[in-house]
Amino acid sequence: TNIETLSKIQIELINAASNIEKEMNSVSDKLQSGKTKVQELEDKIKSLEIELKQTKNESMRDHLTGLLSRKVFFEELKKLDSSFERMGVQYAVIFFDIDSFKNINDTFGHEGGDVVLSTFGKILNKSIRDLDIVGRYGGEEFIALIHFKETKELLLFLKRIKSIVTENSFVYKDKQVKVTFSAGVTIRSSYKNYDEAISSADKLLYEAKKSGRNKIILENGMEF
Ligand code: GH3
Ligand code: MG
Ligand code: MG
Repeated sequence: TNIETLSKIQIELINAASNIEKEMNSVSDKLQSGKTKVQELEDKIKSLEIELKQTKNESMRDHLTGLLSRKVFFEELKKLDSSFERMGVQYAVIFFDIDSFKNINDTFGHEGGDVVLSTFGKILNKSIRDLDIVGRYGGEEFIALIHFKETKELLLFLKRIKSIVTENSFVYKDKQVKVTFSAGVTIRSSYKNYDEAISSADKLLYEAKKSGRNKIILENGMEF
């Protein structure tokens, strides 16, 4: 009869609707769980990116002093020197070497020597300005590229570093450690290329050592 047919169709409709609903739920479940998976992966990627950046930053820097490693220093030097080549952005090369560092190690132990190195590194790092760079060249040797406009500025920088280092005592396990350093200073524009400016600064540093240490020598013969 008509009524039988009608109720059959009604049942089928109800079944279909409920199947659609079931299907929809499972699809939306899938979508939902898919979304959280994507979110999860995105979060993971984000945190890995942050970790990568930190690791990269750390690998660029010397562990003990926080200064640029030698390799990264030279990479940065090349960038910086191209500003000099293109636009004449003037900078000085400063080679530092801590005086009689062996004695410091012998007196206070290697750990004491490490504290002196890391403190020295912090002093240099805090004294430079935005575009300047400073690296750990070797054990107790450091190299800095310092921008300046007038020679007066450069001299002030050098005097400031010298007085911070020599007029204060470094501290290791509540013992006072007296530290001095020697340095050679050249100005990039006096040389054909940065290599020559660096090796000339190295020679001036050697002169400073030979003539008694605790001395900064500039390429124009000035010393203090
Ligand atoms: P000078 O005044 O001529 O520079 O004498 P110096 O004793 O400072 O120089 P020398 O090159 O004879 O000795 C440097 C010493 O630095 C030798 C080495 O054992 C020590 N050294 C190098 N790297 C480190 C380090 O990372 N930590 C410590 N504690 N010592 C280091
Ligand atoms: Mg040395
Ligand atoms: Mg030394």
